[in-house]
Amino acid sequence: MKALLALEGIDARYDKVRALNDVSIHLNEGEIVALIGANGAGKSTTLRAITGLVRPHAGQIHWDGQRIEMLRPDQIVARGISMVPEGRHVYPFMSIHDNLLMGAFLRRDKVGIANDLERLFVRFPRLKERYRQQAGTLSGGEQQMVAIGRALMARPRLLLLDEPSLGLAPQVIREIARVIKSVNQDDKVSILLVEQNSRMALKVSHRAYALATGRVALQGNSEDLLGNEDIRKLYLGVA
Ligand code: ATP
Repeated sequence: MKALLALEGIDARYDKVRALNDVSIHLNEGEIVALIGANGAGKSTTLRAITGLVRPHAGQIHWDGQRIEMLRPDQIVARGISMVPEGRHVYPFMSIHDNLLMGAFLRRDKVGIANDLERLFVRFPRLKERYRQQAGTLSGGEQQMVAIGRALMARPRLLLLDEPSLGLAPQVIREIARVIKSVNQDDKVSILLVEQNSRMALKVSHRAYALATGRVALQGNSEDLLGNEDIRKLYLGVA
Protein backbone atom coordinates (compact mmCIF):
# COMPACT_ATOMS: atom_id res chain seq x y z
CA MET A 1 0.00 0.00 0.00
CA LYS A 2 1.21 3.51 -0.84
CA ALA A 3 1.49 5.73 2.23
CA LEU A 4 -0.78 8.79 2.49
CA LEU A 5 2.03 10.71 4.18
CA ALA A 6 5.72 9.85 4.07
CA LEU A 7 8.68 11.75 5.50
CA GLU A 8 11.94 10.55 4.03
CA GLY A 9 15.28 11.43 5.58
CA ILE A 10 14.11 14.73 7.07
CA ASP A 11 16.74 17.00 8.65
CA ALA A 12 15.55 20.18 10.34
CA ARG A 13 17.57 22.87 12.09
CA TYR A 14 17.03 25.98 14.13
CA ASP A 15 20.23 27.88 13.29
CA LYS A 16 22.88 25.53 14.68
CA VAL A 17 20.53 23.29 16.67
CA ARG A 18 19.81 20.10 14.76
CA ALA A 19 16.25 19.23 15.76
CA LEU A 20 15.64 16.36 13.31
CA ASN A 21 18.26 13.98 12.01
CA ASP A 22 17.33 11.70 9.10
CA VAL A 23 13.73 11.14 10.24
CA SER A 24 11.65 8.78 8.10
CA ILE A 25 8.09 8.05 9.13
CA HIS A 26 4.92 7.21 7.25
CA LEU A 27 1.18 7.05 7.77
CA ASN A 28 -1.29 5.01 5.74
CA GLU A 29 -4.80 6.22 4.97
CA GLY A 30 -7.10 5.46 7.91
CA GLU A 31 -4.34 5.04 10.47
CA ILE A 32 -3.76 6.68 13.83
CA VAL A 33 0.01 6.97 14.19
CA ALA A 34 1.59 8.21 17.43
CA LEU A 35 4.87 10.08 17.81
CA ILE A 36 6.19 9.76 21.33
CA GLY A 37 9.39 10.92 22.99
CA ALA A 38 10.78 13.12 25.75
CA ASN A 39 10.89 16.90 25.86
CA GLY A 40 12.96 18.24 22.99
CA ALA A 41 13.03 14.94 21.08
CA GLY A 42 11.75 16.66 17.93
CA LYS A 43 8.04 15.81 17.95
CA SER A 44 6.77 19.35 17.45
CA THR A 45 9.42 20.06 14.83
CA THR A 46 8.21 17.02 12.87
CA LEU A 47 4.69 18.49 12.85
CA ARG A 48 6.06 21.92 11.89
CA ALA A 49 7.92 20.36 8.97
CA ILE A 50 4.74 18.64 7.73
CA THR A 51 2.68 21.85 8.00
CA GLY A 52 5.27 24.03 6.26
CA LEU A 53 6.19 26.07 9.34
CA VAL A 54 9.75 24.72 9.31
CA ARG A 55 11.50 24.10 6.00
CA PRO A 56 13.54 20.90 6.10
CA HIS A 57 17.25 21.22 5.48
CA ALA A 58 17.24 17.87 3.73
CA GLY A 59 14.77 15.14 2.87
CA GLN A 60 11.37 14.90 1.23
CA ILE A 61 7.75 14.92 2.37
CA HIS A 62 5.24 13.08 0.20
CA TRP A 63 1.52 13.65 0.60
CA ASP A 64 -0.89 11.61 -1.47
CA GLY A 65 1.86 10.93 -4.01
CA GLN A 66 3.12 14.53 -4.31
CA ARG A 67 6.04 16.42 -2.76
CA ILE A 68 4.91 19.10 -0.30
CA GLU A 69 8.05 20.13 1.59
CA MET A 70 8.34 23.33 -0.48
CA LEU A 71 4.72 24.46 0.00
CA ARG A 72 3.41 27.25 2.23
CA PRO A 73 1.33 26.42 5.32
CA ASP A 74 -1.92 27.64 3.71
CA GLN A 75 -1.28 25.49 0.63
CA ILE A 76 -0.77 22.49 2.88
CA VAL A 77 -4.04 23.13 4.74
CA ALA A 78 -5.77 23.40 1.36
CA ARG A 79 -4.50 19.89 0.50
CA GLY A 80 -6.23 18.38 3.48
CA ILE A 81 -3.82 18.53 6.42
CA SER A 82 -5.11 20.31 9.55
CA MET A 83 -3.20 20.93 12.76
CA VAL A 84 -4.36 21.25 16.34
CA PRO A 85 -1.46 23.13 17.93
CA GLU A 86 0.05 22.49 21.33
CA GLY A 87 -1.65 24.68 23.93
CA ARG A 88 -4.83 24.65 21.78
CA HIS A 89 -4.65 28.36 20.83
CA VAL A 90 -8.33 29.05 20.64
CA TYR A 91 -9.24 32.71 20.03
CA PRO A 92 -10.16 33.60 23.62
CA PHE A 93 -12.36 36.62 22.90
CA MET A 94 -14.26 35.02 20.05
CA SER A 95 -17.32 32.85 20.60
CA ILE A 96 -17.15 29.09 20.32
CA HIS A 97 -19.24 29.34 17.17
CA ASP A 98 -16.82 31.82 15.53
CA ASN A 99 -13.76 29.82 16.63
CA LEU A 100 -15.19 26.78 14.88
CA LEU A 101 -16.00 28.78 11.73
CA MET A 102 -12.39 29.99 11.55
CA GLY A 103 -11.47 26.42 10.67
CA ALA A 104 -13.59 26.66 7.53
CA PHE A 105 -11.92 29.84 6.23
CA LEU A 106 -10.74 28.19 3.01
CA ARG A 107 -14.17 26.70 2.23
CA ARG A 108 -16.91 28.32 0.14
CA ASP A 109 -19.66 25.65 0.49
CA LYS A 110 -22.04 27.39 2.88
CA VAL A 111 -24.44 24.45 3.16
CA GLY A 112 -21.61 21.99 3.81
CA ILE A 113 -20.16 24.29 6.47
CA ALA A 114 -23.54 24.60 8.23
CA ASN A 115 -24.01 20.81 8.14
CA ASP A 116 -20.52 20.18 9.51
CA LEU A 117 -21.14 22.67 12.31
CA GLU A 118 -24.37 20.85 13.24
CA ARG A 119 -22.51 17.51 13.28
CA LEU A 120 -19.82 18.99 15.51
CA PHE A 121 -22.45 20.17 17.96
CA VAL A 122 -23.88 16.64 18.07
CA ARG A 123 -20.41 15.32 18.84
CA PHE A 124 -19.70 18.04 21.42
CA PRO A 125 -23.04 18.87 23.07
CA ARG A 126 -21.35 21.00 25.73
CA LEU A 127 -20.08 23.30 23.01
CA LYS A 128 -23.57 23.60 21.54
CA GLU A 129 -25.00 24.67 24.90
CA ARG A 130 -22.45 27.49 25.01
CA TYR A 131 -21.85 28.36 21.40
CA ARG A 132 -22.15 32.13 21.98
CA GLN A 133 -19.78 32.04 24.96
CA GLN A 134 -16.20 33.36 24.63
CA ALA A 135 -13.86 30.42 24.09
CA GLY A 136 -11.38 31.80 26.66
CA THR A 137 -13.91 31.13 29.42
CA LEU A 138 -13.99 27.35 28.77
CA SER A 139 -12.08 24.70 30.72
CA GLY A 140 -8.88 23.28 29.24
CA GLY A 141 -10.66 20.13 28.06
CA GLU A 142 -13.45 22.11 26.43
CA GLN A 143 -10.91 24.36 24.70
CA GLN A 144 -9.22 21.23 23.37
CA MET A 145 -12.58 20.13 21.92
CA VAL A 146 -12.95 23.57 20.27
CA ALA A 147 -9.44 23.27 18.82
CA ILE A 148 -10.19 19.78 17.45
CA GLY A 149 -13.57 20.95 16.14
CA ARG A 150 -11.98 23.96 14.46
CA ALA A 151 -9.46 21.71 12.70
CA LEU A 152 -12.25 19.36 11.57
CA MET A 153 -14.16 22.28 10.04
CA ALA A 154 -11.48 22.34 7.32
CA ARG A 155 -12.63 18.79 6.38
CA PRO A 156 -9.10 17.38 6.58
CA ARG A 157 -7.95 13.95 5.43
CA LEU A 158 -5.22 14.11 8.06
CA LEU A 159 -5.40 15.67 11.49
CA LEU A 160 -2.17 16.52 13.32
CA LEU A 161 -2.60 16.68 17.08
CA ASP A 162 0.18 18.24 19.16
CA GLU A 163 -0.02 17.10 22.79
CA PRO A 164 -3.82 17.16 23.15
CA SER A 165 -3.66 15.73 26.70
CA LEU A 166 -1.25 18.37 28.04
CA GLY A 167 -2.37 19.74 31.41
CA LEU A 168 -5.69 17.87 31.45
CA ALA A 169 -7.15 15.65 34.17
CA PRO A 170 -7.22 11.85 33.61
CA GLN A 171 -10.96 11.78 33.07
CA VAL A 172 -10.73 14.53 30.43
CA ILE A 173 -7.82 12.73 28.76
CA ARG A 174 -10.02 9.63 28.44
CA GLU A 175 -12.67 11.78 26.77
CA ILE A 176 -10.10 13.21 24.34
CA ALA A 177 -8.96 9.65 23.56
CA ARG A 178 -12.56 8.69 22.73
CA VAL A 179 -12.91 11.72 20.46
CA ILE A 180 -9.68 10.83 18.64
CA LYS A 181 -10.90 7.28 17.99
CA SER A 182 -14.31 8.47 16.87
CA VAL A 183 -12.90 11.09 14.47
CA ASN A 184 -10.74 8.34 12.99
CA GLN A 185 -13.44 5.68 12.72
CA ASP A 186 -16.61 7.68 12.11
CA ASP A 187 -15.24 10.61 10.07
CA LYS A 188 -12.57 8.50 8.33
CA VAL A 189 -9.84 11.01 9.18
CA SER A 190 -6.25 9.77 9.51
CA ILE A 191 -4.46 11.06 12.59
CA LEU A 192 -0.87 11.79 13.55
CA LEU A 193 -0.80 12.14 17.32
CA VAL A 194 2.12 13.74 19.15
CA GLU A 195 2.11 12.98 22.86
CA GLN A 196 4.31 12.99 25.91
CA ASN A 197 1.59 10.88 27.49
CA SER A 198 2.97 7.72 25.86
CA ARG A 199 0.50 5.37 27.48
CA MET A 200 -2.52 7.23 26.15
CA ALA A 201 -0.88 7.62 22.73
CA LEU A 202 -0.06 3.90 22.45
CA LYS A 203 -3.54 2.89 23.58
CA VAL A 204 -5.25 5.08 21.00
CA SER A 205 -2.95 4.54 18.00
CA HIS A 206 -2.42 1.67 15.56
CA ARG A 207 1.33 2.27 15.12
CA ALA A 208 3.89 4.48 16.78
CA TYR A 209 7.35 5.96 16.45
CA ALA A 210 9.52 6.91 19.42
CA LEU A 211 11.82 9.87 18.79
CA ALA A 212 14.99 10.45 20.80
CA THR A 213 17.23 13.49 20.19
CA GLY A 214 15.88 14.05 16.71
CA ARG A 215 16.04 10.45 15.49
CA VAL A 216 13.56 7.60 15.22
CA ALA A 217 14.68 5.30 18.04
CA LEU A 218 11.92 2.68 17.92
CA GLN A 219 8.84 1.93 15.85
CA GLY A 220 6.15 -0.69 15.63
CA ASN A 221 2.58 -1.67 16.34
CA SER A 222 1.32 0.28 19.33
CA GLU A 223 0.06 -2.85 21.06
CA ASP A 224 3.49 -4.48 20.77
CA LEU A 225 5.21 -1.30 21.95
CA LEU A 226 3.01 -1.16 25.05
CA GLY A 227 4.57 -4.48 26.06
CA ASN A 228 8.10 -3.63 24.89
CA GLU A 229 10.65 -3.63 27.72
CA ASP A 230 12.57 -0.55 26.47
CA ILE A 231 9.40 1.43 25.86
CA ARG A 232 8.09 0.50 29.31
CA LYS A 233 11.29 1.66 30.99
CA LEU A 234 11.94 4.77 28.90
CA TYR A 235 8.46 6.08 28.16
CA LEU A 236 5.95 4.48 30.50
CA GLY A 237 7.86 4.71 33.75
CA VAL A 238 7.51 1.00 34.43
CA ALA A 239 10.65 -0.68 35.78
P1 ATP B 1 8.34 19.37 23.45
O1 ATP B 1 7.49 18.26 23.89
O2 ATP B 1 9.08 20.04 24.57
O3 ATP B 1 7.67 20.34 22.51
P2 ATP B 1 9.52 18.13 21.16
O4 ATP B 1 9.81 16.68 21.14
O5 ATP B 1 8.31 18.59 20.47
O6 ATP B 1 9.53 18.65 22.65
P3 ATP B 1 10.91 20.08 19.59
O7 ATP B 1 10.11 21.21 20.13
O8 ATP B 1 10.63 19.62 18.21
O9 ATP B 1 10.81 18.83 20.57
O10 ATP B 1 12.45 20.47 19.74
C1 ATP B 1 13.51 19.74 19.16
C2 ATP B 1 14.83 20.49 19.40
O11 ATP B 1 14.82 21.73 18.73
C3 ATP B 1 15.11 20.82 20.86
O12 ATP B 1 16.50 20.71 21.07
C4 ATP B 1 14.67 22.25 20.99
O13 ATP B 1 15.38 22.91 22.00
C5 ATP B 1 15.00 22.82 19.62
N1 ATP B 1 14.09 23.90 19.23
C6 ATP B 1 12.74 23.81 19.11
N2 ATP B 1 12.21 24.98 18.70
C7 ATP B 1 13.25 25.85 18.55
C8 ATP B 1 13.37 27.21 18.15
N3 ATP B 1 12.31 27.93 17.78
N4 ATP B 1 14.62 27.76 18.14
C9 ATP B 1 15.71 27.05 18.50
N5 ATP B 1 15.67 25.74 18.87
C10 ATP B 1 14.46 25.15 18.90
